[in-house]
Amino acid sequence: MKQNIRFGPAGNPIGFKGQTVDVCDYIRELGLDAYEYQATYGVRIQKQSGLKLAENSQKNDVRVSMHAPYYINLAAQKEDVLKRSIDRLIQSARAAEWIGAYRIVFHPGFYTKYSPQDALKRCKNSITNLMEDLNSRRMENFIFAPETTGKRSQLGSLEEIIDICQSFDHFAPTIDFAHLHARGRGSIKDIDDYHKILAKLEEELGGGCHEHEFLHCHFTRIEYTDAGERKHHILTEKEYGPPMEPLLEALIECGWNATIICETPLLEQDALLMQKTYKNMVK
Ligand SMILES: [Zn+2]
Repeated sequence: MKQNIRFGPAGNPIGFKGQTVDVCDYIRELGLDAYEYQATYGVRIQKQSGLKLAENSQKNDVRVSMHAPYYINLAAQKEDVLKRSIDRLIQSARAAEWIGAYRIVFHPGFYTKYSPQDALKRCKNSITNLMEDLNSRRMENFIFAPETTGKRSQLGSLEEIIDICQSFDHFAPTIDFAHLHARGRGSIKDIDDYHKILAKLEEELGGGCHEHEFLHCHFTRIEYTDAGERKHHILTEKEYGPPMEPLLEALIECGWNATIICETPLLEQDALLMQKTYKNMVK
């Protein structure tokens, strides 16, 4: 299979004024081929609309992912918070099946009073409960994609995300490069830094270069403080990292298939800019 990198916006394009069920018509018209449905403030989509969105995305060959609610903490201290977090992921899995989302992106949680090791253990324990619940409902058509997170108080370093994905079936990583950059206080400077991340993923998880296997990514330029991410910036604000061209170069050199969801304030415009840069590189 020829290398395939898809680009699309996080949520509905700024220029789109229609119904979400038709959004993939607009995305395809722009020339983009990915879309991340945002359920970040709750899973509200109904089955009928979900199925329509799936049909519309297939018609347009737009790859759909879904971002689960922000209010999830799988390492929480309180039982009721854990339970609600698991419920939100079950709702997400159900909706993802309707809309045909190939990945369910979520932020695993916060360390709070726990050490990173203990928080990770709690998180994995919650995922075990989640998987048992889904299994008892005979749901099996989903891939959860825990995301590398941007704040240092959040569970979600590259190592932790890899650990979670190694521990469970139906799991694959979401690599938010801006979050890694912000967590690392500016750690991504050039192509070598991207190659290190990709090499680690390949070593630990088998990489994203297999047929049908897509590395799911988020990208934006980002401003950060000592605590981590602060604000997303557009691609032309080059004073903020991480750099975009070296990421594309690294993915091309490794022959990886990827979906890159653009999270800058310009959404589809910057997704198009990334796609144009990529096309010029492979021409
Ligand atoms: Zn996210």
